[in-house]
Amino acid sequence: MQPYAPPPWANILKNIPKHKIKLGNLNTAIHDWRIKGIPSDVKLSIKRDDMTGSTLSGNKVRKLEFLMADCVSQRCTHVVTCGGIQSNHCRAVAVCARQLGLQPHLILRSGTQVVDDIGCEGNLLLDRLCASKIYLVPRQSPYLTCLKPRMDALSEHIRSTTGESCYAIPVGGSNVIGLWGYISLFAELESQGVLEDYDDIVFATGSGGTASGLAIGNYLTGSKLRIHGVSVCDDKHYFHQHCNEMIQAVGLDARSEDILDIIDGHKGQGYGLSAQEELDFILEVASSTGIMLDPVYTGKAVYGLVKELNTNPDMFKGKRILFLHTGGVFGLFDRRMDEMLKIKGANSNQIYAWTELSDFP
Ligand SMILES: *Cc1c(COP(=O)(O)O)cnc(C)c1O
Repeated sequence: MQPYAPPPWANILKNIPKHKIKLGNLNTAIHDWRIKGIPSDVKLSIKRDDMTGSTLSGNKVRKLEFLMADCVSQRCTHVVTCGGIQSNHCRAVAVCARQLGLQPHLILRSGTQVVDDIGCEGNLLLDRLCASKIYLVPRQSPYLTCLKPRMDALSEHIRSTTGESCYAIPVGGSNVIGLWGYISLFAELESQGVLEDYDDIVFATGSGGTASGLAIGNYLTGSKLRIHGVSVCDDKHYFHQHCNEMIQAVGLDARSEDILDIIDGHKGQGYGLSAQEELDFILEVASSTGIMLDPVYTGKAVYGLVKELNTNPDMFKGKRILFLHTGGVFGLFDRRMDEMLKIKGANSNQIYAWTELSDFP
């Protein structure tokens, strides 16, 4: 745990965290990224927040540096959070809880309530390796009426049966504490020259914390960057409401609608569901650039960005765009990519049996 001092431009805010815990490999790289379908007058680069770590990686790490510091300073020995069955956030919480010697509890939305059927694909393997206590709830469970009350009841149960305290983290780590992960990212962007070298930042938005932190950081620095979150669930209205709540919580006089652009229309079949063309796109990007996009967030965001560049070219004409890769690689191991590759067959992947040296395939 280390004392946290905000960037000078953030000193005017309320609710500045006092501590953070170093969990990630920050100062992530930025490099050019040549994918198909980008108009020739647009320059595209990528910031590798998928490389904030290995099993503890992605955008949640930046939020958890502040959330876990708050947890530890309250002397909690348990931590509870919630999300989808393949939640990257829940996996990141499980891993860092164990790194800090805490017991993780995960409330997961699942298509099955049969506990022996949940399997151990993708993020769930890591959740289980961390010996997280896992509680399944129906897939459509709303946060406020189902997940939040369960987190409260579990915390109370732990307190009354063990005398120990449990720290509750809301969905996606998106509250006024996690917010600081992406407010403070702006100091990193400044030091990397992003404010001069780029016009736009684009990323996937799911619970709105990354979007809110970026929008607030951008506003405070007075930078001219435009901040665009591509929604993979909910809509503009929801994200502006979340961001306005965060703006209020830090005591800023601004409106989300003026400092954040939410791009709707690219969630496809819905949160966590993939259309064939999205999976094809992930394969195309991986095989042509070596960058792994995930099916739930980054795959949809980049697929959406390419569509916007082609259907709405005036929006980004001649612009220098930085795509913020928020991670999610373990979502690729949830089986849907294997199914797709199997359907395509060994031929399209160029897989050969070569048993005799002389039988060159
Ligand atoms: C959680 C997540 C997001 C969305 O970030 P929010 O701050 O929740 O909006 C984007 N990409 C990946 C890979 C994520 O895990």
